[in-house]
Amino acid sequence: MNNQPRVNMRTVESDELPACSRCGQRVTMLVDMSRWGRGLAELCRTCDQNRPARAAWLNLLASGKLADADQLTEADMDQAKQLWAACLIDVLSAGPLGLPLQGPPSGKDAGL
Ligand SMILES: [Zn+2]
Repeated sequence: MNNQPRVNMRTVESDELPACSRCGQRVTMLVDMSRWGRGLAELCRTCDQNRPARAAWLNLLASGKLADADQLTEADMDQAKQLWAACLIDVLSAGPLGLPLQGPPSGKDAGL
């Protein structure tokens, strides 16, 4: 009865995604890294294009394939899981220096 893609992730996906701290465009995805003791990791299609593991995952997301759960085959899910796992490993291995992690709101941009 569960139609959700069973990719193991916790994300924030909405129109309220923040601007990328690297390029200023809206990020594609925020990954909750709290289970690894980190904050939110930004995945940006522009900035992460040179990171193959991230780019592959972001391209899959952008394809819209995962949004249509009824059309997903087992092979699609396997591929998605592998791409997501590889992306996550890349994000984790990058560490704080390689990936801007968002701290608590600083109020710096609180102009609204
Ligand atoms: Zn960016």
